[in-house]
Amino acid sequence: MKILVINCGSSSLKYQLIESKDGSVLAKGLAERIGINDSLLTHNANGEKIKIKKDMKDHKDAIKLVLDALVNSDYGVIKDMSEIDAVGHRVVHGGEYFTSSVLITDDVLKAITDCIELAPLHNPANIEGIKACKQIMPDVPMVAVFDTAFHQTMPDYAYLYPIPYEYYTKYKIRKYGFHGTSHKYVSQRAAEILNKPIESLKIITCHLGNGSSIAAVKNGKSIDTSMGFTPLEGLAMGTRSGSIDPSIISYLMEKENISAEEVVNILNKKSGVYGISGISSDFRDLEDAAFKNSDKRAQLALNVFAYRVKKTIGSYAAAMGGVDVIVFTAGIGENGPEIREFILDGLEFLGFKLDKEKNKVRGEEAIISTADSKVNVMVVPTNEEYMIAKDTEKIVESIK
Ligand code: ADP
Repeated sequence: MKILVINCGSSSLKYQLIESKDGSVLAKGLAERIGINDSLLTHNANGEKIKIKKDMKDHKDAIKLVLDALVNSDYGVIKDMSEIDAVGHRVVHGGEYFTSSVLITDDVLKAITDCIELAPLHNPANIEGIKACKQIMPDVPMVAVFDTAFHQTMPDYAYLYPIPYEYYTKYKIRKYGFHGTSHKYVSQRAAEILNKPIESLKIITCHLGNGSSIAAVKNGKSIDTSMGFTPLEGLAMGTRSGSIDPSIISYLMEKENISAEEVVNILNKKSGVYGISGISSDFRDLEDAAFKNSDKRAQLALNVFAYRVKKTIGSYAAAMGGVDVIVFTAGIGENGPEIREFILDGLEFLGFKLDKEKNKVRGEEAIISTADSKVNVMVVPTNEEYMIAKDTEKIVESIK
């Protein structure tokens, strides 16, 4: 099946055309500056990168341009739009409505719209993408794959915040968790690589990128994760603070004479390793500053980041009554041997031994613990698009 995977942001649209049979990517690309001036489509196919400058006033224009590129006689990969069997849409928030991926119907679209208040920055763009595709490809089945769905298996004592219960019932305030598609994919892939049933494993998945989160995956189900009501909770991230004492918010409002919204903006955009280092949110810059220039604040930022990851891994081993596999994924998790070693240093009591040679791997699937290690430590590059394509294929086949 040829499946078009769409991931819409407010002014961008990422896409991949995937042959779901073998997971091969026929074409992929990015439409940028949608609704702004100088819109640009970068299309990668047949080993070539093509840049198309054309105005895209909305997501519908962007989808049209993507489809034109896919069927283009020079750099296209299909002859006709009708070759696209289904579309899989990444949707950030499914609230408590969705525990797995679903075929998009009017009712589903309404539920996604109901979740806008929980994800005001993301769900509206996802809905735009769905509506645009529906208009242009009305007869092609579409599936929504949610970032939150995988974590819907968390028990109530893990997802409830200790605040008055009525805020949960009235406003749906609870931990939802994000990066679910990635945590699901890498945990399943780790079990496959180890050739063990996922139902028998306790896996800790560390998705460490610009946004970072960790999940405790017991017997194939997420039982806890570090992001919460929003993606601001948990680890220290590129520019996000992660968990802090909530009283800091009112204290800062008073001291700096700023609004709650301004403080939350600082916690989202000016904090994390960027806030501590004052240098960058990018780990490559931080590693250069810390190790080549001995910059103290860059070193501190890396320390704060690694310490939180370490503590969370320890706490999830406690939550699951042990751990069999620790998986690293996403930009930093896949490509940062130094930071992996730094995080794991001192955690050996969990039952693993890191193989420093094997840990040199970047961006490839690998077991980086020693052969006699009781607990496996692994690097598994994430592939959310493939997971979306596979879920879409499964659902579309079931309705045939
Ligand atoms: P996003 O959350 O935007 O998808 P990514 O998963 O691409 O983010 O991760 C981006 C982060 O990965 C950046 O901080 C970047 O510095 C880091 N990263 C990418 N390559 C390397 C590398 N070779 N060494 C260390 N960090 C890396």
